[in-house]
Amino acid sequence: MSDLPISPERDCNLCPRLANFRQVNQEKFPDWYNAPVESFGPTDAALLIVGLAPGLRGANKTSRPFTGDAAGVLLYGTLRTFSFANGTYDGRADDGLALQNCRITNAVRCVPPQNKPVTSEVVACSKFLQDELTKLQDLKVVLALGTLAHNAILRSLGYAQKSAKFSHGAIYQLPTGYVLADSYHCSRYNTNTGRLTKTMFEDVFAGIRRLIVS
Ligand code: URA
Repeated sequence: MSDLPISPERDCNLCPRLANFRQVNQEKFPDWYNAPVESFGPTDAALLIVGLAPGLRGANKTSRPFTGDAAGVLLYGTLRTFSFANGTYDGRADDGLALQNCRITNAVRCVPPQNKPVTSEVVACSKFLQDELTKLQDLKVVLALGTLAHNAILRSLGYAQKSAKFSHGAIYQLPTGYVLADSYHCSRYNTNTGRLTKTMFEDVFAGIRRLIVS
C-alpha cells in the first residue's frame, strides 16, 4: 500500500496543553519516550482497535500503545487468546510481541493530564484517526474501547454522534463497509469496579473473531 496513515511529528504542537505536559514529562522523566505514540500493527489488518490516549507510565513511557500499563495486560492477553497477537507480552516495546491481522491506535496520540483529553484535543488529533479509518484498505472491524473512542471514530468519519450510540457489545454496520464494535475500555478502573470482566471482554473478541475468519 503506498498511501499509509500519517502520524503526528514528535514535537507536534496541535494541542498546547498536551505539548506543555509533554515538555514537563521530558524534564521529569528524561529516559521515557514522551512523544506522540504511533499506531502499532500491520497496515493490512482487518481489525483496528481504538483506545483513548497513551497512559503516562504505559505507552508514554514505552512508545507502544497499551504497553506497560494494566490495560495492556488484559488487552494483549486477550489478543493472544484470539490469535490476533503472538509472542510474549512483557510490557516493553521490544518484548517481541507481534500483532496479526490487528492494529492498535489511540483517539488522542499524546498523554493527557489525569488521563483525560478535552474535546478540542480529540478534534485536533482526529485527522490522524481519520487517516487510519480511511487508508487501511482491509478493515472489517473497528473496535472502540470506550465512549470517547467510539465518538471520535464517528466524528473522524463525519457521522452524527446520534447515528450510533456507544453501548458495550454493540455492533454497527457503517457505510464505510466495515463494522464498528464497542467495548468498555479495558482500564484498571473498569476491571477493578467490575464494569468490565475478562469474560465480557473475551465475549467481544469472540464476536469479532466470528466476523474475521483468519
Ligand atoms: N494505553 C493506551 O495506549 N491507550 C489507552 O487507551 C490506554 C492505555
